[in-house]
Amino acid sequence: MTGQHRIVVLGAGYAGLAAARRLVPTARDAHITVVDARASFVERVRLHQYGAGQSIPEWDLRELLEPKRIHFVQASAQAIEHKRVILDGAPDVEYDSLIYALGSTNDPGVQGVAECAYSVATPEDSEYLRTSIPVGRVVVVGGGATGIELAAELAESRPDSRVLLLGSDEPASWLSARARDHVRRTLERLGVEIRSDAKVIEVTPESVRLADGSVVEAAATVWTAGFGVPELARRSGLAVDGHGRVLTDETLRSISHPDVYAAGDAAVIAGPGGRELRMACATALPTGKYAADAVVARLAGRAPRELRFRYFFQCISLGRRDGVIQFLHADDSPGRTVLTGRTAAWFKEQIVRGAAGAARP
Ligand SMILES: Cc1cc2nc3c(=O)[nH]c(=O)nc-3n(C[C@H](O)[C@H](O)[C@H](O)COP(=O)(O)OP(=O)(O)OC[C@H]3O[C@@H](n4cnc5c(N)ncnc54)[C@H](O)[C@@H]3O)c2cc1C
Repeated sequence: MTGQHRIVVLGAGYAGLAAARRLVPTARDAHITVVDARASFVERVRLHQYGAGQSIPEWDLRELLEPKRIHFVQASAQAIEHKRVILDGAPDVEYDSLIYALGSTNDPGVQGVAECAYSVATPEDSEYLRTSIPVGRVVVVGGGATGIELAAELAESRPDSRVLLLGSDEPASWLSARARDHVRRTLERLGVEIRSDAKVIEVTPESVRLADGSVVEAAATVWTAGFGVPELARRSGLAVDGHGRVLTDETLRSISHPDVYAAGDAAVIAGPGGRELRMACATALPTGKYAADAVVARLAGRAPRELRFRYFFQCISLGRRDGVIQFLHADDSPGRTVLTGRTAAWFKEQIVRGAAGAARP
């Protein structure tokens, strides 16, 4: 490694791959290594489709990265200490700069979720849902984008299931009235039952228990109400928030470890008006790219440019033939323009394909 700057990217999801792709032309003299526990990249934004029985694209990471002179190590990262990543399944790797992009996973915060609930947070969760979901009533917990998309996909692909979407607020509550109405009408047309007054406090093998004491029977429960992040950053002594996400400055550099940068779901990143960017592919891609630029700028002795960021729209699929595209103001609040129906389904599909293309080196 003599003299070569070693950049290690931890995580080959949207953020990590976007970072690696950016480094190839900009850090020509550096040695770039990507580490991921999985052998392949699975389009995470399609895991609800996979869980509902559809096939989705998958790419072999080694075949993708090695021809681009990116060294790939398949191993699970256990700790970061003294500029070294301790790996399980491969020799440890040393770095001069590290981009931390370990993403997020299911959050088993509520009693019984880890033991009894299905999930679509990871490819393994989705595979399990796809192969072992029983016939009968499926309760999808969470009225956020993932819960809505999964409920629609299950209702469309599995006519033998009855789907109940359960949340403490109406589905897509943060969108405009027009977008919310379309989500509700479409879910109802697909046969999804909706309950928006329910706070789940426990999941058991055959039911969910609500805060008001009532019990809802379920052949299967799928948890989509919030994601957690890997414990690695906290365990390794990096400054993290209450959820374990890496705290970063305006250049995405860890506030405690100057050689570590963080991007995507595993990072706390300030957005427009100082508000935190949300966990989204729409955040992971630009922040991964930006973290790479910040590393390269400092390597060249330059100050990194400022992260400029805003969301333009949010896309929610409602099965394969419908959807909602909500255009957003600069402060992330919903604007007046909303696309629905087949146009929205087509638009979302182009965005999902574009996201995979943007990550692919
Ligand atoms: C069903 C579903 C639908 C979604 N739909 C949308 C959408 O429509 N639009 C949108 O913007 N967002 C969507 N999201 C959110 C989006 O998928 C995430 O925000 C995005 O994947 C985050 O990217 P990331 O690179 O930060 O992390 P990930 O994509 O989670 O990648 C992290 C990588 O790190 C690896 N890793 C984790 N721990 C370790 C370890 N210890 N050692 C080695 N490797 C490790 C993992 O294997 C993984 O490859 C959806 C999410 C789900 C689950």
